[in-house]
Amino acid sequence: MSQVHVTRRYRFCAAHRLHADLLSEEENWAAFGKCNNPNGHGHNYVVLVTIKSGTAQESCSLDQLDGLVNERIIDRFDHVDLNRDPAFAELTTTGENIVKLIWDILEPLLPNGCLQKVGVIETRDNYFEYAGVT
Ligand SMILES: [Zn+2]
Repeated sequence: MSQVHVTRRYRFCAAHRLHADLLSEEENWAAFGKCNNPNGHGHNYVVLVTIKSGTAQESCSLDQLDGLVNERIIDRFDHVDLNRDPAFAELTTTGENIVKLIWDILEPLLPNGCLQKVGVIETRDNYFEYAGVT
């Protein structure tokens, strides 16, 4: 049986600084370059959430997805400093960690098997994608 997926696009603007407390200043600069600037910087993040497209009797609904993403992702991360979010107390705010966090927030709240993939566009040239543990 064929399965069609649908992807919704969301946006939030947030500040961050790539910095690992365990590394020295030089090591942080080597790892993160200008993203380690102590003053931080911002991105206009685009979040792409892919779910199974279903008929009305199946339970992956775009309305439910929009509500969840707006409440749990956009309201939480829009116009904030990501480094101050408790989820990043021990994690660097890299695109890899952001996309995995968004997956981990949404996946348990959606019907089983509904969520297929989360993508995060951080800059013109950086796109991160996560589809859970396979
Ligand atoms: Zn950045």
